[in-house]
Amino acid sequence: MQGLNVIADFDSSLGGFAGASYGGPHIFSRKGRQIRVSVFELPDPRDGGCMLAFGDIGCHPLVRIHSRCLYGDALGSDDCDCGQELERSMDLIQAEGAGVLVYLEQEGRGAGLAWKARGYRVGEMFGIDTFDSYRRLGLRVDSRHYDVAARAVRALGLTRVRLLTNNPDKCRALAEAGIEVDPVPLTITLASPRGKRYLQAKRVHRHHTIPVDDQVDNGRRRTWWWPGRRR
Ligand SMILES: [Zn+2]
Repeated sequence: MQGLNVIADFDSSLGGFAGASYGGPHIFSRKGRQIRVSVFELPDPRDGGCMLAFGDIGCHPLVRIHSRCLYGDALGSDDCDCGQELERSMDLIQAEGAGVLVYLEQEGRGAGLAWKARGYRVGEMFGIDTFDSYRRLGLRVDSRHYDVAARAVRALGLTRVRLLTNNPDKCRALAEAGIEVDPVPLTITLASPRGKRYLQAKRVHRHHTIPVDDQVDNGRRRTWWWPGRRR
């Protein structure tokens, strides 16, 4: 399944994607290696974005559903795990020669960059994490959605994927779209104190199954776990 075939399948599959724009396939170069990519713009105004299908995705590909983060993705911030997760995901997809990246316009956990910045500021003022900052600002701690992303992945004809994530919400969204999920955890180590606190806050507040790095866990490296299979 590649190139124009992917587009034809996508076009004629599940409803709700009328008006989506298609592009490619074309050659994409990164870190000295090349891979072919087809682009699908997702028209949903709430949690739209784009989906990139790399190589011959087959029937059980690596999939990354990623929410936009300017600080992490483009600026390499140490304060969150977004940049590392995207980098690691693309490394794995390129190493395998195939995979799917859904990139959603859900900056700042859906609140936008200005509110994210306010959240950081409030966190600095009161010594609280970004989830509590959002609450103090009257925001939902996480207003992202993944149902459009899940439907887009399903529209590629996929019924089983290896999902590159530590976020159970993404697994649930794909499962609800009729896709069997084999989660592939991403081990992240963040250098800044805020970044370390952020990873811990994601574990506590959002039940993310983030592998514990040695520094955070006092030198004891724990195995990755998943809900229902807790340590
Ligand atoms: Zn981020």
